[in-house]
Amino acid sequence: MLDPPAKKIRPGGSGYATMSTYGARTPWIGVSRTEKGPYYALHLGGTNFRVTRVHLSGQPSPVLEHEVERQPIPPHLMTSTSEDLFDFIASSLKEFIAKEGDGSNTSQDRRELGFTFSFPVKQMSVSSGILIKWTKGFSIVDMVGKDVAACLQEAFARKGLDVHVAALVNDTVGTLAVGHYHDPDTVAAIVIGTGTNACYLERIDAIIKCQGLLTTSGRMVVNMEWGNFWSSHLPRTAYDIELDAESPNPNDQGFEKMISGMYLGDIVRRVILRMSLESEMFGPISSKLSTPFVLRTPLMAAMHEDDSPDLVEVAKILNDTFEIPDLPLKARKTVVKVCDVVTRRAARLAAAGIVGILKKIGRDGSGGITGGRSRSDIKMKRTVVAIEGGLYSSYTLFREYLHEALNEILGEDIAKQVTLNVTEDGSGIGAALLAASYS
Ligand code: ADP
Repeated sequence: MLDPPAKKIRPGGSGYATMSTYGARTPWIGVSRTEKGPYYALHLGGTNFRVTRVHLSGQPSPVLEHEVERQPIPPHLMTSTSEDLFDFIASSLKEFIAKEGDGSNTSQDRRELGFTFSFPVKQMSVSSGILIKWTKGFSIVDMVGKDVAACLQEAFARKGLDVHVAALVNDTVGTLAVGHYHDPDTVAAIVIGTGTNACYLERIDAIIKCQGLLTTSGRMVVNMEWGNFWSSHLPRTAYDIELDAESPNPNDQGFEKMISGMYLGDIVRRVILRMSLESEMFGPISSKLSTPFVLRTPLMAAMHEDDSPDLVEVAKILNDTFEIPDLPLKARKTVVKVCDVVTRRAARLAAAGIVGILKKIGRDGSGGITGGRSRSDIKMKRTVVAIEGGLYSSYTLFREYLHEALNEILGEDIAKQVTLNVTEDGSGIGAALLAASYS
């Protein structure tokens, strides 16, 4: 269904890694187990904005009591000014704090907060970092090159909020922090939602940039920014190339554009548009088919997972979204097949990325840096990967394809040692834990 590999692929490296400094404090990436009281997190990701409050009891706890409030980010703020965006975020936090008492002694108590900011940042310290670029449809030009934590702190001051930004955290790092808090065998974290990214725990001596640096644990979190991974071995179709060219960030985030929730529905739309232009299958050409992003990924998933014999859900979504009425069953089946191909490719690419990390840290059963011995001689350690994001958690077939590919690439025996642990709201909870540690 998808085109053969495009001949010309844009040049480019494999993205860049930014180092997070969370290795520096304790052997288990700096997450608090002894602090007491409420700690806050704000999560600015892709589609939704989240405010989280975590209540720490002063002791390690298998369950972290927390509250989360989500709201969609008003689309106009995604391309507005930094002041507009951060004022909105600060107001949301203010309302959240005002609505429910948080157990602080007085309203004058300064609150500590972790800011989960899921965009590429050059981390300057635990609580500061400079925005490198926007992704996932955001484009606020005056923010690029600025310290995002300082912008948030200024917005708190404008709104009269006594809240201190104690940690600036990438969402994958928050997910890893909370994953590691609950299970010390957690070695990496993956987020697959509107966008996609990964981070993992690396030995400090294996990081060239960090030569000479010492950490108590001897390890450090590497934020991979894998959404920007690219390789000439990765075949791109005509649909990928067009989607990239028409996106707000062309030649950027190539891996993300093949995998994440922001894009899958639009790849499917492009395939259906081409089929409708080149065949009679879809009847008269609907102008709606030319509207970018009109088919959101959750709708695409609903068509893919329609198990009714007549594919009634597919018919309804095609009618509602593209104004294509009364499509014959054969054509509806073709649409489901397109969804399947696009989703399967995405899930397999994500699985390959996970195996790449496991390979790098010697957890793919091949022995990694111990090398030399045969696969069967090496005892594979239990390995946990924390995973989060709406695409993975809400799209069953995507999840199944990803697991299937992991089994296939690693082999069943090794795959049995690898657990993917869903950490719902983990990135926010992890950021609050880090705020507690570093405040
Ligand atoms: P974020 O926007 O911070 O990444 P989430 O992790 O909740 O937030 O991911 C939201 C994304 O997950 C949506 O943009 C959508 O692409 C995808 N998604 C949500 N629900 C579904 C679903 N039922 N099926 C497929 N994709 C979904």
